Amino acid sequence: MPGSKAKMTPGAPPLDLLSKMLLFKGVRLESIARNLGLVHIAVLKAGDILLRPDEPNSELYILIEGTLAVQSDLDMQPLATLQAGDCVGEMSVFEGELPSAYVIATVPSRVLRVHKEVVWQLIDGSNRFARNLLHTLGTRIRFGNEALATSHERLLMQEISASLDPLTGIYNRRWLNGMFKRAIERAKIDAAPLFLFMIDIDHFKMYNDTHGHLAGDQCLRAVATTLRDNLRPSDLLARFGGEEFCILVGCDEPRESMTVAERLRQSVEQQQIKNRDGSPLPSVTVSIGLAQLRPDDSLESLLERADKALYKAKKKGRNRLMVDSGTARPRGKRKPR
Ligand code: GH3
Ligand code: MG
Ligand code: MG
Repeated sequence: MPGSKAKMTPGAPPLDLLSKMLLFKGVRLESIARNLGLVHIAVLKAGDILLRPDEPNSELYILIEGTLAVQSDLDMQPLATLQAGDCVGEMSVFEGELPSAYVIATVPSRVLRVHKEVVWQLIDGSNRFARNLLHTLGTRIRFGNEALATSHERLLMQEISASLDPLTGIYNRRWLNGMFKRAIERAKIDAAPLFLFMIDIDHFKMYNDTHGHLAGDQCLRAVATTLRDNLRPSDLLARFGGEEFCILVGCDEPRESMTVAERLRQSVEQQQIKNRDGSPLPSVTVSIGLAQLRPDDSLESLLERADKALYKAKKKGRNRLMVDSGTARPRGKRKPR
């Protein structure tokens, strides 16, 4: 556990120690000899806090031996671990701002403390020191960028996998809630017609009971694939849960949406389902409820109306499409899609 603020035990550094440090490589040390009084060695115990975000810092520290942990909080895992030769504190010296993190000795350590006056003097007076410092900062920035890219990538992967249904590989309800809501808002702004299909596999419980749960899983995969393959990239498909799927489709008019839904129904009816070993399984049918977005609709109310239409399709005998009564009646000639 990190302990108290580091108590510095000062001692003047021998010049040969400085000359071995990357930051001082090639630097004419005579130029700072008169300021050696401002360069000290500090001895830290394990747990000593060298830097903290609530205390101003006026020194650059170079680790001579031991290890230092960089932490955003005292109880957090380290963001980075510094080894002998690494430096810390320079950013708060340059910016005149508070340190951005805690720096804590994890084992007994020794650091070289270089007062900011000496740092600026070295930058002004020694090209080599300025170059060495730039090199150190460049490495630090590159490392920071790489860490950022990796964590961003990881976050992205987590985000994607949290949005996918592991069984069928299509999007899940979590994704639907966010994405469908956004699409609905967009359609309202653009005054563009939008249609929701609620699709449910018929007698799926019996399918499971007759052929087994694994065959049921294969059937769900096959239906998801057939639906996906018969949609345009702009149509949004998700597994709503169980044996139910939802699709949001932008069409110019209701008749076109019905043609799309009818095509999906037929495609599922005609699809061949196979067991994992390749042996054939019976096909299934689906019932579809269709509702058109109204200006006063929320995702929930649109889902509700599509679900009511689906219920009617089930009651009428299944394997059919029913359209919510609020959906505009088709007018004019059929439009090919
Ligand atoms: P209906 O025609 O009225 O829709 O009848 P149904 O049998 O399809 O509907 P019901 O709601 O009675 O049954 C749905 C079944 O779907 C029950 C459940 O075990 C099954 N199911 C839900 N999720 C999964 C899954 O991930 N895999 C498998 N194999 N079955 C599932
Ligand atoms: Mg169902
Ligand atoms: Mg069902």
